[in-house]
Amino acid sequence: MDCLTKRIGDFMNINEDYKSHIKLAKLIALSLVMIIITLNYNSVKANAAVNEKLNINNTNISFLENKTDENILDNLLVALTGKVFGYEVILNDDLIGYTFIEDSLDNIEESLLNIYLREKGIKREDVLSYKVDMKLDLKKNRFDVELLQTSDEVAKALYDIAKKDKDEINITVKYIKEEKIEIKPSTVIIQSDNLYLGESKVEEGTKGLSKVTKEITIDIDEEIENKVINKSILIKEVSKIIYKGTKNPYEYGVAFLNHPTGGGYMTSGYGERWNSFHKGIDIAGDTGDDVIAAMDGEVIYSEYNDGGYGNLIIVKHEDDMETYYGHLNESYVKVGDKIKKGDIIGAVGNTGFSTGPHLHFELRIDDEPVDPTDYIVKKVNGAA
Ligand SMILES: [Zn+2]
Repeated sequence: MDCLTKRIGDFMNINEDYKSHIKLAKLIALSLVMIIITLNYNSVKANAAVNEKLNINNTNISFLENKTDENILDNLLVALTGKVFGYEVILNDDLIGYTFIEDSLDNIEESLLNIYLREKGIKREDVLSYKVDMKLDLKKNRFDVELLQTSDEVAKALYDIAKKDKDEINITVKYIKEEKIEIKPSTVIIQSDNLYLGESKVEEGTKGLSKVTKEITIDIDEEIENKVINKSILIKEVSKIIYKGTKNPYEYGVAFLNHPTGGGYMTSGYGERWNSFHKGIDIAGDTGDDVIAAMDGEVIYSEYNDGGYGNLIIVKHEDDMETYYGHLNESYVKVGDKIKKGDIIGAVGNTGFSTGPHLHFELRIDDEPVDPTDYIVKKVNGAA
């Protein structure tokens, strides 16, 4: 009986011990679960933040996945504190940003170059060489995961600095640029004996196209070098051709002179007159009426003439032809002026030996006055 009682008593004691052990075990287990949950929470939070940055950056490096002892310790600290190890980005002793990738100096430089190329409209494949001039340092530190930046974000901040001051950061890029350039048609003048002097015929040309390859060097704000390294013709231009008449219309008896006042009666013809010889024709007009160049030419005389012409303009034309415009009230041209057929060169007047406002007009061939009447396109009214 005693024996049984003792056994039961032992059993009871064992049972009591067992219960308290279970209690302790439960407590320990709960604590462990709490720790694990906390660890996991921080770890997941940090992991998510880092992965987000890494995904943006398109990089596969994640120190949370590195299995070196140091990183496992780092990871544990990340998990416990929410703070990560990373690098402060320092430009000339100034803190610019925070990054976390081991090789981030190269990544930052690469991102900076890409931002610059994008801004300048330069394709990466056209870049021959480049240089990023900056004194950038990385300093290892521990900081809140929220501060982490991608290489692109750090590079953007650096680019803003570069744009303001290239002494802080300068970027030099040598690249190839291809340009298509229009070629204007050249002009060729061809003498033609199918046309009279003063006449011309134009055959329009067409534009060409060339491809120019340049090697350009620029830095952050200016072009340093720009040289053409190759030029090729894509479309050949076709020259504009101007056919200029060489046939002398006087010799062919063709009317070729513009009417020198545009109209008006002829009051006195060419030839013998009273006791003298009239070297030209007189055309009635009012003071101030336009006097018009009869043909293209160059002014060789434009002043008052004492011989009776009064204010006189002499225009020299091709093939030693000249036209005279006398008794002018006013001249609008000077010696050396190149004028076109139809240009207004002066005004009708009453200067010199003249009894009323009119134009005295002469045509001279090799300095000899001839009768111009038949050579004036719009014949003087009243003349045959
Ligand atoms: Zn006259």
